[in-house]
Amino acid sequence: MKIAILSRDGSLYSTKRLKETGVERGHDVFVIDHLRCYMDITAHSPKVLYQGKPLVDIDAVIPRIGASSTFYGTAVVRQFEIMGVFTANTSQAISRSRDKLRCLQILSRRGIGLPVTGFAHSTKDIDGLIELVGGTPLVIKLLEGTQGIGVVLAETDQAAKSVIEAFRGLDANILVQEYIKEAKGMDIRCFVVGEKVVASMKRQGAPGEFRSNLHRGGTAEKLRLTPEERSTAIRAAKAMGLRVAGVDLLRSNHGPVVMEVNSSPGLEGIEQATGVDVAGKIMAFVEKSAQEKSPRGANA
Ligand code: ADP
Ligand code: GLU
Repeated sequence: MKIAILSRDGSLYSTKRLKETGVERGHDVFVIDHLRCYMDITAHSPKVLYQGKPLVDIDAVIPRIGASSTFYGTAVVRQFEIMGVFTANTSQAISRSRDKLRCLQILSRRGIGLPVTGFAHSTKDIDGLIELVGGTPLVIKLLEGTQGIGVVLAETDQAAKSVIEAFRGLDANILVQEYIKEAKGMDIRCFVVGEKVVASMKRQGAPGEFRSNLHRGGTAEKLRLTPEERSTAIRAAKAMGLRVAGVDLLRSNHGPVVMEVNSSPGLEGIEQATGVDVAGKIMAFVEKSAQEKSPRGANA
């Protein structure tokens, strides 16, 4: 099969692993920078062009679209969808997952466990917001944050108020969330492919740090999920319409709660912590799905 990985940087671990795995499995795999794809969006023959030539006979694309290129990247993925090319994640699902608020609203509608979360526009509603999540300590999150940046633990009402006022003063949108103290700085990453969790790990924050992000000095280790955690992760990915997803959970007193669903989850941390060939699982899924989509499929 001819498989295109949409990635800005072919030297990234995840991109390299997907490429080498695809090649080992006998495919023609190439990495294309989605910001250098341009499109013919007329109806009779929709095209994606790259380096002056149309990309033809592609069987599948694997989008690895970073947060900073969501708008253009999803437009490229959508163009491949119009051309009838199978994509590991659809443009719509990627866009949805990029908006933390929208993501939580979609999960809530499906009855998936979430930390109690509030959202408000006006600083006049701060008291109401703090009360809604059950008072302090609480967690304040910048809607646009990633890798744990912009996630703040406020221990007292006074601290919560000043942080919320400061963020709102800069016109930043924030979520206010109950603090899941019992998670003790540990979160769970479930890597979902198709409708299965193919690998899972726990991430533990550095000492004295409630955020478990690897970028914040956290450490990762393989973890066996409970059946409830497994089904929560699968339901969360499905609710978002993601076929490949990193679902982040916390173990709370009221069961697993989903913090976030990531549409381009990194492979390095999870492959190293678990020893699972996650790239191989993604490739196998893409092969099967692309072939089902167009049975004569393989142009090779
Ligand atoms: P980001 O998308 O920037 O990684 P997250 O929402 O995943 O932000 O939060 C970063 C980390 O902070 C999480 O991995 C988790 O360890 C911790 N955390 C986030 N929300 C809560 C919460 N409500 N209760 C306890 N810990 C939390
Ligand atoms: N690099 C991420 C972190 O620091 C983990 C992998 C991911 O988010 O996909 O938490």
